[in-house]
Amino acid sequence: MNLIFLGPNGAGKGTQARLLQQRQGIPQISTGDMLRTAIAKSSELGKEAERYVTAGDLVPDAVMIGIIAERLQQPDVQSGFVLDGFPRTIAQAEALEAVLAGLNRRLDRLIYFEVSEGTLVRRLSGRMVCRAAGHIYNDHSSPPKTPGICDMDGSEVYHREDDRPDKIRRRLQVYHDKTEPLLAFYRQRGLLSVLNAEADVEDIYRSLMTMLAPQVRR
Ligand code: AMP
Repeated sequence: MNLIFLGPNGAGKGTQARLLQQRQGIPQISTGDMLRTAIAKSSELGKEAERYVTAGDLVPDAVMIGIIAERLQQPDVQSGFVLDGFPRTIAQAEALEAVLAGLNRRLDRLIYFEVSEGTLVRRLSGRMVCRAAGHIYNDHSSPPKTPGICDMDGSEVYHREDDRPDKIRRRLQVYHDKTEPLLAFYRQRGLLSVLNAEADVEDIYRSLMTMLAPQVRR
C-alpha cells in the first residue's frame, strides 16, 4: 500500500509510521530522518539542508524532490511505503505524482492527522529522538526506560533543536502557509482520509487500522 501521512509537526505521523513499519512491514520514508542523518554525517546534502532545518524552514523543493525520486526506486519500497514528511508543498505533491506515474505506481491514500494546536505544542515540547535511528520518546508520556538512552539501540536520546518553542511556532506557521493547501489538492483527487490524532498512541493506531482495513491485516 502506498500512503502519505500528512499533518502538522507533533501530530504523531512519525510514531504511527514506525508502528506501521514494525507491525505491518510497510516501510516508513521520513524525509526529516533522512535529512537529520545527512546533517550528522556532514554529507553534501547535509551541508545544504542544515540551515533550513535548524531554522525550521523548508528545504528547497528541487532538493527534496530529487531525494524522494531516488528513494522510491529502491527495492525495499517496491511493494508499499508510508511517506512521512513529504510532500510539504504543492510543487512536491505534483512532482510526486509524476515520479509515481513514471514508475507505473499510484498513491492509495493520504491520511490527514487532525489535532489541536494545544496538543501539538505539548507533544513537541516534550519530544525526544535517538541519535542512531530517530526512535521517538516523550518526557511526559513515554520517556525512555533509562533517562537519556534509547531503549531500542542504546544511543543518546535528545531534544531536537527545532523543537524549541520559537522554532515550533515558526514550523507551524510554515505548515499552515505551505503544507495545509495539500488537503484540498488530495481531497480533489478523492484520496483524503481524516484521522483524529488527539488520543494516545495505541488508540490512534487502532483508528488507523480500522481506516486502512481491509487493505492491511490487523
Ligand atoms: P520533520 O522531521 O518531518 O519535522 O522534518 C524536519 C525538517 O526537515 C523540517 O522542518 C524541514 O526543515 C526539513 N524537511 C523535512 N521534509 C521536508 C520536505 N518534504 N520539504 C522541505 N523540507 C523538509
